[in-house]
Amino acid sequence: MDAKTSLRNPSDFIASGLVPPAQAAAAEAASARQPLAIGPALLAAIDAADAADPIARQFVPSAEELEVLEEEMADPIGDHRHSPIKGIVHRYPDRVLLKPIPVCPVYCRFCFRREDVGPDGETLTPAELEAALDYIRARPEIWEVILSGGDPLLLSPRRLRDIVRSLDRIPHVGVIRIHTRVPVAAPERIDGDLIAALEADDSALYVAIHCNHARELTPAARHACRDLARAGIPLLAQTVLLKGVNDDAAVLEALFRALVRNRVRPYYLHHPDLVRGTGHFRPGLETGQALMRALRGRLSGLCQPTYVLDIPGGHGKAPVGPGYLAKDATGGWQVEDYRGETHAYPPAPPKAG
Ligand SMILES: *Cc1c(COP(=O)(O)O)cnc(C)c1O
Ligand code: SF4
Repeated sequence: MDAKTSLRNPSDFIASGLVPPAQAAAAEAASARQPLAIGPALLAAIDAADAADPIARQFVPSAEELEVLEEEMADPIGDHRHSPIKGIVHRYPDRVLLKPIPVCPVYCRFCFRREDVGPDGETLTPAELEAALDYIRARPEIWEVILSGGDPLLLSPRRLRDIVRSLDRIPHVGVIRIHTRVPVAAPERIDGDLIAALEADDSALYVAIHCNHARELTPAARHACRDLARAGIPLLAQTVLLKGVNDDAAVLEALFRALVRNRVRPYYLHHPDLVRGTGHFRPGLETGQALMRALRGRLSGLCQPTYVLDIPGGHGKAPVGPGYLAKDATGGWQVEDYRGETHAYPPAPPKAG
């Protein structure tokens, strides 16, 4: 699809042909629950002739979003419960999320924070940001700070640099991790000023890119990854397993190969959270396990993310398999190879004496 501009409201989506006029009311209702946005880079990646296009499916509002299932929640992973102060989520002892802005370059219809993101969300004032930094300064157990949101790479380079510098100056902070969709969704933002803003002297700064389909790695996105990697920034990827987008072994294989080929290491494959109005995106856990099993033999270890579930209620993430090891009747083990054949492995030797 050819486009130079962004689509930001239902009428833009209708004019582009991505939403049929008959769906106008549904698009309007969906946009009242979560804002709409897609920019030129990802618009160009959409095949308009394909009614089931996996890029369009992630960003185009649909009537299915209005269906809320009983098990779905406003705060599926308990962010609010674990927020001790505005802008901070502190669930694990050694790491916190810091959320300076609520806006995103695109609005993913399956977003795990869909009820918090958008221009009406909470932007930290300078005083609130300082209070959040003080929270981190006062807790030596915080080793890693994850900038999340919203999308931290939508901050101006000056504000981003100030935050990175402030964190870098905290002696106990060893790692600054930035979770972002900008390299694929707004790759034109990754310029010299932004990359300079990411310079940390003391801490290691990682960028984790949210990417769900190989076609999101457009030429502009690949350039953005290359420029970040050339600046010495280690790149990770986070992928959400999504029905109708990437719930297919060949699609995931192409994605993980494309990421590694562009120097981005797949980190997590997230099972989707129980977000309201996202049931049409959610496969079963058994589907995710079968896909991971299929990829085990097909892809090198470099290309394998960990499949994780954020346990509803705020209990943190758990790897959800599949497992390759089972206890056998003799106290030893049966371990499964990538072809599905099992092999015996002995128990540990008995203690001497
Ligand atoms: C996901 C998450 C993290 C990061 O977890 P990792 O397993 O280290 O990637 C940290 N804090 C919160 C609140 C999270 O939701
Ligand atoms: S970019 Fe991330 S936070 Fe923003 S809408 Fe998409 S999934 Fe949600």
